[in-house]
Amino acid sequence: MKATVYFTDRQTRTDYNMLDKLEHIFNELGLHKAIKPGEKIMVKTHFGQWGNTNYLRPAYARKIVDLVKAVGGEVFVAETTGLGYGDGGAYGGRTTVPEYLGMAMLHGYTAATVGAPILLADGYWGTDVFEVPIDGEFIKSVDVAAALLDCDKVIVLTHAKGHGLGGIGGTIKNLGIGLVGKKGKAAMHFMGDIKIDPEKCLGPECSKCLKVCPTRCISMGEKAVVDISKCIACHHCVSVCAKVGAKAATQTWRPNHTQSPYFVENAVGVVNSIGADKFYYINLAIDISDKCDCWNLGAPLLVHDIGIFGSRDPLAIDQATLQAIKDAPPNPDSPVGDIECGACKFAMAHACKDPESGEILDLAERQLSHAEKVGLGTREYKLVTLTKESPKKSAQKEE
Ligand code: SF4
Ligand code: SF4
Repeated sequence: MKATVYFTDRQTRTDYNMLDKLEHIFNELGLHKAIKPGEKIMVKTHFGQWGNTNYLRPAYARKIVDLVKAVGGEVFVAETTGLGYGDGGAYGGRTTVPEYLGMAMLHGYTAATVGAPILLADGYWGTDVFEVPIDGEFIKSVDVAAALLDCDKVIVLTHAKGHGLGGIGGTIKNLGIGLVGKKGKAAMHFMGDIKIDPEKCLGPECSKCLKVCPTRCISMGEKAVVDISKCIACHHCVSVCAKVGAKAATQTWRPNHTQSPYFVENAVGVVNSIGADKFYYINLAIDISDKCDCWNLGAPLLVHDIGIFGSRDPLAIDQATLQAIKDAPPNPDSPVGDIECGACKFAMAHACKDPESGEILDLAERQLSHAEKVGLGTREYKLVTLTKESPKKSAQKEE
């Protein structure tokens, strides 16, 4: 069966601007009626990395917050911590609560601007999680951000753009990376155990890694030693060890083209955790570069702004968004300025090659086909295009 994906384009007028359009999508998704007074509503978004100028403007989160409040919902805006410790420095670290909330402030995300509390759903260290068993091909248990447990509904508000490991960084990425703790993120990025090389370790006089280990699984004798049974692979020790110049603590990066199935399966755990019926998805396909918002730059835009998509199906919304990006004429100044319409601009921009054949891989296709395989949703969709004149809660024009 086809999933419905609502769409409103980027054209604006004074009586129907992007925030009006966002409200239109909100209503078509049925949120204005579904949210009951007193229900706890999470708005899940991403605050961007310092230096990135393509991230989602806080006004979109504010609009959603105001709409939720108007129907009596108790709303908060949420993100989760990133991997590492202090990576990105004073401006741009996203790896503990104070780091990331400081980063959010720099990008205009505060309780005052969005009109609601802002929290990191996986806690100070990224370890405030609960395990959800799944029957994935690669993952059997997902560490879901604990704040989800208290939510009656989740509005996943996503900036749709590229992602160097998943092709497209859309709703599925926002679920599968954005709503898991550090262990879940590490499962995607790294393989094998943390290693500490005793030859390189500086020993007790350093001890920097002990203080930042969230599970306190590093002990110090003559050299640092990890109790792997308690390690969550959070990368903290690797970060600080590199900063002291020792590079004794190391982790092995999973090959780029093999990573997206892990976050797809994480997304299954996230959705299963409180039930698929609690989730509502919105993709803002604007400021579309090939880079994720966790990069510290505003990479050139591949296409013009496209618009806003909304759906109850996390795969269908990403499929519809990807197709629209493929169909859009390329920005001539972008790295894919001479690509044909219909081809995957993300694949060309990322140029991730098959290690054996050397062919460029279509990572978005890999991500979405795996999402279909594990039953996250459907790639078949009915696009319902909304205009200001659309009757409320109806399909004005179907394509
Ligand atoms: S931070 Fe590195 S060098 Fe320092 S104690 Fe830990 S492992 Fe050894
Ligand atoms: S030992 Fe494991 S849990 Fe501790 S800081 Fe290193 S990666 Fe994180």
